Amino acid sequence: MSFNSLGLSDALLKAISKKGYTTPSPIQQKAIPPILEGKDVLASAQTGTGKTAGFTLPILQLLSQGKHLSHRPVRALILTPTRELAAQILANIKEYSTFLDLRSTVIFGGVNQNPQVSQLRQGVDILVATPGRLIDLQNQGLISLSKVEILVLDEADRMLDMGFLRDIERVMKVLPPKRQNLLFSATFSKDIKKLAMGILNHPVQVEATPENTTVDAIIQKIYPVAKEKKTELIIKLITEGNWKQILVFTRTKQGANKLTESMISSGIKAAAIHGNKGQGARTKALAGFKNGSLTALVATDIAARGLDIPLLPHVINFELPNIPEDYVHRIGRTGRAGASGEAISLFSPDETVFLRDIEKLVGLKLPKENIKGFEPDPNASTEPIKQGQGRQQRNSTPKKPKTDNPNRSTSNSFGQRRPSQNNDRRSNR
Ligand code: AMP
Repeated sequence: MSFNSLGLSDALLKAISKKGYTTPSPIQQKAIPPILEGKDVLASAQTGTGKTAGFTLPILQLLSQGKHLSHRPVRALILTPTRELAAQILANIKEYSTFLDLRSTVIFGGVNQNPQVSQLRQGVDILVATPGRLIDLQNQGLISLSKVEILVLDEADRMLDMGFLRDIERVMKVLPPKRQNLLFSATFSKDIKKLAMGILNHPVQVEATPENTTVDAIIQKIYPVAKEKKTELIIKLITEGNWKQILVFTRTKQGANKLTESMISSGIKAAAIHGNKGQGARTKALAGFKNGSLTALVATDIAARGLDIPLLPHVINFELPNIPEDYVHRIGRTGRAGASGEAISLFSPDETVFLRDIEKLVGLKLPKENIKGFEPDPNASTEPIKQGQGRQQRNSTPKKPKTDNPNRSTSNSFGQRRPSQNNDRRSNR
């Protein structure tokens, strides 16, 4: 299938070809036609599937065909959980709308609101926003959403995880009731379904299982290791493997800082990216990682969500996530766009429950490889460690990882893979 057959305008096709895209990704093939028809869409898709173009391209087309009002009120509102993702979506919109007369801007917290307000005053057709700053400006009477025709909730699951439900509900109250709604989420918990049911009107459901080539290209390895030797092992892997671009996940912000410091002392150019870092530091770290001046980016799950880092060769789970879906999001950072990638997890005995839940979710027994000198004590306790910082801590009682949700979209993407396939691929390398 080609982009031509999706019914997109010449101006968009020209921008797409300028970007170098030749074929629409599965989520684009499935989502673009119903969105162009004005339907509500409920899409199951994670970062890396091309979902951003999947909703921005048809929105641009609909808005450019619609009635232009001279004062340019916001006609499309895109809500998204993180500042980085918001900035990336805007960057995509700007590229795709090169040949259209549409204005777009982004608003998010953590930075001075004045430049954002002055952009809004000049009139924008498309607004990308994180919920907190949107509500803030709305409360100050600095933004009008009464002309919104299209609403997108992007990464809805992560917005709920980050506690944005109340803000989303507040936004709904100030939107016109008649509008087109699009909801994108990687996972579908009960809460997401409830949210979707409250917002969407007879939605068309679409699902993007990552292309087989992409999924199969991810080689997953588990290295059992004594907890206290993880730092030494990761430094050894990076330096001896001469790896150049590694995204590392830790469970906590403190863990990310500590590991980054150890890496830097060992001569690895590293930076941490997490919620306690200011916007400037986050943008700088991401830019350094993308342009190659940083070798390792150490991130927490929330901070990494939505980062667009194409063709990442290595993802390392310094610690396994206690939410199994996060494992799928993390490893989705490698092997993207048909490129091969390696997802390595350093697994200590206290993470036994987390690994069991992950394997249950992905439907695979992940292959373990011992590295001489780093093996954990066979008698070490397999009791889970205490929950760390982050979103899990908002609950007073530690949350058990959810593994009993039969509707998780992520299991569809990975469930068909058999361990033998994975091992075969591993031995091919
Ligand atoms: P997303 O899932 O929206 O974060 O997109 C992941 C990456 O795929 C981004 O770098 C996009 O620029 C890229 N991309 C989106 N659509 C296509 C396409 N049809 N062909 C090639 N790359 C694409």
